[in-house]
Parts: sequence; C-alpha cells; structure tokens
Amino acid sequence: MTAGFRVFATCDIGEALDVLRKRGYQVEVYPDPKAPPKSLVLEKVRSGIDGLITTLRDQIDAEVFEAGKGALKVVAQFAVGFDNINSADANRYKIPFTNTADVLTEATAEFAFFMLGLLARKMWPAEHLTRENKWGFWHPYLPFLGDEVTGKTIAIIGTGRIGLAMIKKCAGFDMNILCYDPAYQNHEYVKAIQETMDLRHSRGIQKEKTWIKYVSFEEALGQADFISVHVPLLREGESDTPTFHLFNERTLRIMKQSAFLVNTSRGPVIDENALAKALRENWIAGAALDVYEQEPLPSDSPLRDPVIEDRCRLLPHFASAAKITRLSPDPNKGMAGRCVQGLIDVLEKNYGGDVKKMPYVVNKEAF
Ligand code: NAD
Repeated sequence: MTAGFRVFATCDIGEALDVLRKRGYQVEVYPDPKAPPKSLVLEKVRSGIDGLITTLRDQIDAEVFEAGKGALKVVAQFAVGFDNINSADANRYKIPFTNTADVLTEATAEFAFFMLGLLARKMWPAEHLTRENKWGFWHPYLPFLGDEVTGKTIAIIGTGRIGLAMIKKCAGFDMNILCYDPAYQNHEYVKAIQETMDLRHSRGIQKEKTWIKYVSFEEALGQADFISVHVPLLREGESDTPTFHLFNERTLRIMKQSAFLVNTSRGPVIDENALAKALRENWIAGAALDVYEQEPLPSDSPLRDPVIEDRCRLLPHFASAAKITRLSPDPNKGMAGRCVQGLIDVLEKNYGGDVKKMPYVVNKEAF
C-alpha cells in the first residue's frame, strides 16, 4: 500500500485506475468525455496533485509545470505520441513524462493496412451502392473498379515501431516495400523481411519475387503506389528533419497520379489544404486519414468536399481504438495499464528511483 498519492486523470481510462486505488492512491477522474478546459487542469495541478494522467487532447506546457511546482512529480500520457507535451518545458522543470509505446504498435499498423484496403478497393462507395439501392446489375467494370494491393509497391515513411509493423503486414500481401527514415534505419529487420520474401517465393507461397529497400524521400514518393506515414509530429526547431507539413503541394506533386496516401501518424504532418487540392485536381488517386490538423475534424474542412468523397476516407483518430489495446490494465497489453505503470514507477521510485532506468519515461535526457 502506498497511501496518499493524489492523481488527476483528464479522462477515464477504465479499470486500470483501480490498480492505483487499490494501492491507496486518491484518484480523481474528469467525468466528461470531452477534454477538460486548461484552466481546470491548472486548478487541479495547483491543488497539489502528485501525478497527472493526460491524453493527446491536453496541452501540457510551462504553465502547467509552473502550477505544479513543488508537488507535481509525473505526467503520464495515454498515447505513444506526445506532441501535446512541451518536452523542453518538461525538461526545464525536470518533470518526467511517460508514454504508452509498443502496446499499440500492431493495432495501429493493422488499422493503417485496413485503411489502405478500404481506399484501394473502394469499399466505402461500393457499400453505399448497395445500401442506397443503386446496385442495379453485375458488370465487368461499371460503375467503377478498385486497385489491387497485392503485388504493388508501398512506401513506408518512418521506420520506427509502427512503420516496421506495417512493413511486416505489407510483406504478407506480397508487396514491394520502399522505406524512408532520416534518423533510424533498421537494416537487420529489412534484411530479415527480404529473406522471408525470398523464402515465400522459393516455397511457392507467393508467385512473384518481391523486394524491400531504403531509399530517399523523393524516390519513395515518386515510385510508390501506396504511401503510409508513421512519423511523430516534429515542428520546426524540434528536429533536423521536422515532419510538420512533410506532405505539402511540392511533395504531393512528386507522387504518382495513381498513388494513394494513408496517414495514421499526426494530422499536421499533412497540409490539408494542399491535400484537398491534390484530390480535387487528381494529382493523386486518393487518401485515407485517421488524424487531422484540427480534431475533431471541423465541419467546414476542405476534406469534406463532396467532390472528393469517393476517394477520401476520413476516420476519427481510431487506429489504436481496439478494446485490449486501449483498456487492458496489463502494462504489456494495454495503453491504460502501461500509462498507470509509468506513473507508479515514478511516484513509487521503482528502479531505485533512477528515472533513466524507467522504461516508460520519455524525457530521460533531463535526468
Ligand atoms: P517511433 O518513434 O517508434 O517511430 C517514428 C519514426 O519516425 C522514427 O524511426 C523516426 O526516426 C522517424 N522520423 C522522424 N522524423 C522523420 C522524417 N522527417 N521523415 C521520416 N521519418 C521520420 O514511433 P511509433 O511508435 O512508430 O509511432 C509513430 C507515430 O504514430 C506516433 O508519434 C504517433 O504520433 C502516431 N500514432 C498514431 C496513432 C493513431 O491512433 N492514429 C496511434 C499510435 C501512434
């Protein structure tokens, strides 16, 4: 029992919070499904809480850390992405923050793959045809055809955890794979995938030989039939290779006219006005998005233009939204479990109190 720690969660993350309660923590949960206003988060932090559980909807910056001076010991983020937390401010105030990497990797990658299939095979317009009773006949090519995924070339932009998992899924669909990542290249993994592809071919499991290789960004964009984005949101000044508006008018124009773009990373990685233009003017064949520059997607977003409806799939930031992935209290299975464990590690001084050794702490460099 570790009585006395006070925690505020900006949203309900389910039964994993009972793990804290059973250890004697006082846990307060913001009851509304919408994010609390920042003023309320500041008020709670100022009241002397020890730990703050956040989601990507909460802006955590110097103002919050200042409010928590002397009391706040940890911010536990319920996500792998942490672009809503100002890392420089956290480091300045020496507040460790944690994330929930790994447990959502496969869920996010498989969702990206399903989005790709949904888009390429025109499943959404096809279902509408059926539902709206416009399916009048079977015909070889009317009213439209989709594009096969099998045997095509995909570019994976960002070969971190989710990018590598996506590669594995695409390899299973006999795709050729172009990889791009300026900061982290996993040549061992790529070699193992190539060996798997060769074995599948030699054993007659796949008919055509397929390949995988690292290339430049421009090569990836220019050669791919599909592009799937798996980068963190990094703004100017946060990285030598920022990802803010990585996809813009210039880069979208490099893509093939027949190519599709899938984004499950973060909305601001794509300039949405440029993408809407690219879809309207048919520079590319289609896009499937899970994340947006502003969330929820505003009613006047150019992405809602009915002219591009048939080739623009819009999902509600749903890639990690699987039951076990989101809510399992097991830190090896669920974001909720991992989030709570990250918080416990810091508050209860696990790993001898050495923040650098705590697996879920992100900003180890500050300690
Ligand atoms: P990761 O850190 O393991 O991988 C990100 C990779 O992107 C790294 O290898 C990095 O070197 C690379 N990268 C950085 N800048 C780049 C650039 N300019 N061009 C190409 N690559 C670049 O992270 P991850 O666990 O794979 O997650 C990736 C992102 O996916 C998260 O940061 C998060 O924003 C997003 N995400 C979204 C959902 C969702 O529900 N839609 C779920 C999980 C993660």
